[in-house]
Amino acid sequence: MSKTIERAPDERVNWLGSAPFILMHLLPLGALFTGVPWVAWIVMAVLYFGRMWFITAGYHRYFAHRSYKMGRVMQFLIALGGSTAVQKGPIWWAAHHRHHHKHSDQENDIHSPKRGFWWSHMGWILCRKYDATRTELVPDLMKYPELRWLNKYWIVPQVALIAAVFGLGLLLTGGAIVPALGILFVGFFLSTILLSHTTYTINSLSHVFGRRRFATSDTSRNNWMLALITGGEGWHNNHHHYQGSTRQGFRWYEIDTTYYVLWVLSKLRLVRDLRQPSERALNSRLIKQGAPDIGTFDKYWARAVKALHHTSDLAIEKKQQLAELYAATLARLEEIARETPTEPAA
Ligand SMILES: [Zn+2]
Ligand SMILES: [Zn+2]
Repeated sequence: MSKTIERAPDERVNWLGSAPFILMHLLPLGALFTGVPWVAWIVMAVLYFGRMWFITAGYHRYFAHRSYKMGRVMQFLIALGGSTAVQKGPIWWAAHHRHHHKHSDQENDIHSPKRGFWWSHMGWILCRKYDATRTELVPDLMKYPELRWLNKYWIVPQVALIAAVFGLGLLLTGGAIVPALGILFVGFFLSTILLSHTTYTINSLSHVFGRRRFATSDTSRNNWMLALITGGEGWHNNHHHYQGSTRQGFRWYEIDTTYYVLWVLSKLRLVRDLRQPSERALNSRLIKQGAPDIGTFDKYWARAVKALHHTSDLAIEKKQQLAELYAATLARLEEIARETPTEPAA
């Protein structure tokens, strides 16, 4: 069963603008011709996990959610690290992410999987519509000129990192260009492609596969596998429930490596005021205690209606009654959800 989703002209893939990113997917194949020195795999792991950390700890938990604090120099260094990950500038990233939390899975959510899996994964990045930074959502970040500069010229640290990896390759191979290119293809380009797609899974897969502990108005899930490859971002239902927490793995077994590194940095006094989920947040809106789960209500309702269709051909007036019942039930669920607030988000 597939349904075609209409896209506005500015929501279609901007082939010209996206060409560098799309073509980048082919560059790791260059390693087939150059060979891959073993050190390339080390560079790949360092650049994958290192840059993932800058995105999760920096772009996401700090710039988008301000879930902990740090000084201005540290703030710049973390933004600089994030801007080497081919995910545009910190202010652009944070602004779009704040918008996602504000409108999760609603009509105007930028990357809801309800608008198609590929759309949520990368379609929204490849179109023109979201090129601009939504500055109105990030006045707290716009006041720093150094962040505004990085937001505009994120390509500079990007190119600098490519040059540095190639230079390191030349250094390690005694100036031999071909194996140095092998290090670049795998160390930089393969890690970048993997990093991009695992980050995107948080917008796509983690709103589709996994368990829901908390009733939220969106479709977010907790998924341990995604948590392992994204440094803890796979605890996405926890995160949508209480975005103000620096820590996203709420239980001891919910591995959240981004948080562990931040915890070490806090002991070194490089960052401070890491936020934990409060007792109240941990114990509110639990689905197993019967909290009405608006996020999955649509899915179960659609299933029930489909089953009805199966058993009898519904008359028009019955369909009308069902639509009214749907609206009334949803309104009541929203009312109940409002009566059991968690905590202010940030
Ligand atoms: Zn978030
Ligand atoms: Zn989400």
